[in-house]
Amino acid sequence: MTIKIDGKALADEIIQRVAKDVATFKQEHNITPGLAVVLIGEDPASAVYVRNKVKRAEQSGLRSIEHYLPADATQKELDGLIDDLNNDHLVHGVLVQLPLPTHLSESRVIEAISPAKDVDGFHPENIGRLVAGQASLVPCTPLGCMMMLNRQFNDLSGKHAVVIGRSNIVGKPIASLLLQADCTVTVVHSRTQNIESLCRDADIVIAAVGKPLLVKESWIKPQAVVIDVGINSVLVDGKRKLVGDVDYDAVFSKVSAITPVPGGVGPMTIACLMQNTLKAAQFQLGMSLV
Ligand code: NAD
Repeated sequence: MTIKIDGKALADEIIQRVAKDVATFKQEHNITPGLAVVLIGEDPASAVYVRNKVKRAEQSGLRSIEHYLPADATQKELDGLIDDLNNDHLVHGVLVQLPLPTHLSESRVIEAISPAKDVDGFHPENIGRLVAGQASLVPCTPLGCMMMLNRQFNDLSGKHAVVIGRSNIVGKPIASLLLQADCTVTVVHSRTQNIESLCRDADIVIAAVGKPLLVKESWIKPQAVVIDVGINSVLVDGKRKLVGDVDYDAVFSKVSAITPVPGGVGPMTIACLMQNTLKAAQFQLGMSLV
């Protein structure tokens, strides 16, 4: 029987654990870990995402700090705000909501955030440590995917994982984490030939593309585990609906486990952000990141 991996339930578990650990941390150090989120402009999807982050931060016992800048904010203003947050001892994690308006530089923002407060795990220092197999702040979506896989497999060693997509924030860090877990990893992307036959050999398929229902039933090996990172808004019968990169209904009966969209990877990403904020606060007090 196919398992529908319930990302919401697992995220609730993580939040409860983080809340307990935050309470202990507060008691021991008299410090409330603080997460600062910066939103520039009025992208509706980003605004919903930030609201969810605020709610989850409150549930976790974290201090949540929001900064809203107008869509025409300058790079200098944004740089100044990040600098202030880097130097604010009440702030332990800094997250700038992406994507940014096109006149602002994402790479400059990512590099401006102090690596110790980089709860998104996108700073080159954290990415470098991740690739080198060293302790680091790990990007939240890849971390959430690994937690879900670890629930499905006693041991990931020797499994063939195909990652579809090679972005810096999802595909590449997931590939690094899978390698660390001793998987054999194939990364496929928009220029790959024969994606379908490569996927058909996979014990694990991770789809992180942003193309609705790209992955068909014929791409999937029987009993594979499928993690669908994609979030795509499509029109169905005149109504907006969220779907993943995988043709969920067609694939469902063929696989051993699969994440739904919504309710799969999305909630895990936010739960991992809360976990990373606590880790960052612990790290800033001299504790190890492991
Ligand atoms: P991106 O656009 O940066 O990268 C997409 C990748 O897909 C690229 O590497 C590209 O080479 C590859 N690609 C494009 N067309 C392809 C095709 N036809 N076949 C194979 N590969 C193809 O996107 P991203 O930021 O990595 O996000 C991917 C998806 O994941 C999006 O839908 C995004 O909304 C979603 N996402 C979800 C979460 C979450 O929390 N659930 C977090 C981040 C991103």
